[in-house]
Parts: sequence; C-alpha cells; structure tokens
Amino acid sequence: MDSRPVDQLVRLEAAPADSSQGASEDRASVGQALFGLDGEALAACMARAGEPAWRGRQLAEALYRQRISDVSAITTLPQALRQRLVGEGWQVGRPAITQVFQSQDGTERYLVRVGGADGAAQAGEPVWMPEGDDGEAGDGSDAEAAVKEYTRATICLSSQVGCAVNCHFCLTAKLGLQRNLTAGEIAGQVLEVFERQGVEVGRDRVNLVFMGMGEPFLNYANFMGAVRLLVREAGLSPQRMTVSTSGIVPGIEQFAAEPAELRPKLAISLNAPNDAIRGEIMPINHKWPIEAVMDAVRQVRLRPRERITFEYVLLGGVTDQPAHAAEVARLVRRTGLAAKVNLIAWNPGPGIAYATPRPEAVEAFRKTLADGGIPAYVRKPRGRDIYAACGQLKRTVEG
Ligand code: SAH
Ligand code: SF4
Repeated sequence: MDSRPVDQLVRLEAAPADSSQGASEDRASVGQALFGLDGEALAACMARAGEPAWRGRQLAEALYRQRISDVSAITTLPQALRQRLVGEGWQVGRPAITQVFQSQDGTERYLVRVGGADGAAQAGEPVWMPEGDDGEAGDGSDAEAAVKEYTRATICLSSQVGCAVNCHFCLTAKLGLQRNLTAGEIAGQVLEVFERQGVEVGRDRVNLVFMGMGEPFLNYANFMGAVRLLVREAGLSPQRMTVSTSGIVPGIEQFAAEPAELRPKLAISLNAPNDAIRGEIMPINHKWPIEAVMDAVRQVRLRPRERITFEYVLLGGVTDQPAHAAEVARLVRRTGLAAKVNLIAWNPGPGIAYATPRPEAVEAFRKTLADGGIPAYVRKPRGRDIYAACGQLKRTVEG
C-alpha cells in the first residue's frame, strides 16, 4: 500500500484522458442533453420537432449503441435535421472522462465530469478492472463458458457523489452526500468506459457492479433509470449487473418488485455477524436491523442459479474472529436464501482507524464459512495504489 497522502497521489499519477475520446471538455452540459432520455422520450422529442417517431429510435441507436457523442456525427439523421437540432441547442451531453488514474495491476479509475460552469462538478469515479475482482464468483453469472479471446472485466459504478450512510470504515462516507447522479450520468459512466476500452456489447464479457460511491437505493429512481437505459437501449443484460446496498429496506422491497428482465442481481453489505457489531460500524443498522433486511431480501424472486451476495468487510480484530465466522455461517443458513459470501479485506483510508485483517484470518474465515456449507470468496483488492479499491473512492478535484 502506498503511504503517500491521497492528494499527492492524485497529482503524481493523474494522466490526461485519452484525447482520441473526442473533445471531452466540450461535452459539458450547456444546452439540452439528449443522453439520458430513453427511446420513448426521444421519440416524443422528435415528434415535437415535427419528425416521425421512428427518428427517436435512430437517435437511441446512435446514443446508446453506436455511442456517438456529437449530434453532427449522427449520420443516420438527415443533415438538415442534425443542423436544426444543434441550432436549437440540443447536444448529446454524455458525461465525459476528464481524468484517468492507472494502477500497476491494470485497474483504471476515472473522473467523469458532468459539466457545471465551475468545471469542478464530477459525476462519479467508475473503475475498470480487467479480469474482475472475483466479486462475481459463484453467483450464477459464471455459468456460461467464456468463448472469446480476452476474458472478463468488471466496471464498478457510482450512483451518488459521496454518501449519506456513514459507515465508519468507508472513505466515501467522509464526503457526506454531495449529490445524486442522474440516470444519464450513471449510464454515461458505463458508455464512456466502453468507448475507452473498445468494449463490444454482445461480444465482450463485462460485468457492471453498482458498488462505487454512494448508496444506490437512496437514489433509487435514477439508479433503476440507468439500468433501464443500459438494458433496453444499450442492450446489456441485467444478469451481468449487481447492485450493492447497505440494507435500505424500502429500496430492497421496491427492487424485489422489478420485472426479472430488468432486475440486476443483489448484494447486501452485511459486514458483521450480529446487530450489536453491525450497529457499531454501520449506524444504519439501528434503523434497519439484520432481520428486517433479510425479510426484505426474501421478497426477491431469484432466477435459476442466482444467489444473493452478502458482502463482508473484514476489519482486523473487530469482525474477523473465528467466532464471527461461525456466527455468520449460522446467520446466512438461517435466512434460507440461496446465498454466497464475498469477503473483502478492509482497505485503509486516511483518517479511518481500523486495521486490515491478517491474511491467515481472512483464509480461516473463508474456510469456516465453506465448511459450514456457505460458498465464500475473497475479493481481490484492485487498484489500491490509485485509491480505486472498495471503500476508497472519494471525489478528488485536484488535478
Ligand atoms: N453503498 C453501497 C455500495 C457501495 S460500497 C454499500 O454499502 O453496499 C461497496 C462495498 O464496499 C460495500 O460492501 C462496503 O461494505 C465495502 N466497503 C466500504 N468501505 C470499505 C473499505 N474501506 N474496505 C473494504 N470494503 C469497503
Ligand atoms: Fe455509503 Fe456504502 Fe460507504 Fe456505507 S459502505 S458509507 S453505504 S458507500
């Protein structure tokens, strides 16, 4: 782990965004953004402009499948129409990557800006992890064989800038909630990273995890709006998406009611073996204790082979003891859910007084769970040197 302070790290390792991605600075949202509107809204927009509704379909294709970021480059539309749209102040307005941080392990973290006249507003910090971090292991998504020349990748997405939940071990919590991201800003992060990495939808095996900054279920409408855009307009599978929540019960209940063709997989940040410890490290547990969370999770109708993921951050000396592992195994068994546990060794952050667990403690914990019949995996820390690992994301304005 690099011990330099985070601001210094950023200055030393920030690299300019790839200039081949277009004039990203010019894509700030002055004018009306088309990106973020779904097929219906685009059709309505075209109808208002006196155009046939199927022009909306063409626009949706251009924005979400061809990933065009400039109205004048949408050659499926007649030139006169493009000019008129531009003249009326329409622009694509997809949020742009403005900074790239590259890790020694191949992970990349990005700053994605959503305009704002002061140039400081940022949409999120998506993280690209080639080969993933094993967070998907055993949850049903590996059932199909990978038949392609390069293996898999995972993109970790933010749903908010900052977070209001205040888990004591998490760096994002220190920011407080700065603001919600819109559906377009969340989906835009994905397409920006796809563009940079040359991802081909339908060919490449890319998983999306909503596990970056923010609590997706406290920004539910925008989070699900982004999922709808990504599934319906961009053609991604919700079975390759996982959303993680700290246990916002009304959000979980709403999520359980989503149609299967739109519903991502669910991960719950359990993080402790019982309410007493969970309440100490996650104050949200006082509002929605473990049993209330489990009752809500049981409302989710799982697909064949699908499992609920329980994330469990191992805090040295606090949640990583052998007795804790046995208690977690009993707790998960008692839920009766098809579940697996994803163990995450705590990633340090400035000003947070916890300890990373010893590697032997992590392995012993995993083994106790596995021996108790609970599939358990250890998530690899990715991009720790660029503050991209779990719980390390924190908006960084300084370049
Ligand atoms: N807000 C959502 C999703 C983002 S946090 C949630 O809490 O579930 C994603 C995961 O990172 C959570 O499981 C959280 O417990 C974990 N996490 C937070 N801070 C961490 C840290 N410093 N080290 C390791 N994992 C951390
Ligand atoms: Fe928010 Fe998740 Fe961090 Fe808790 S762990 S403060 S819910 S981002």
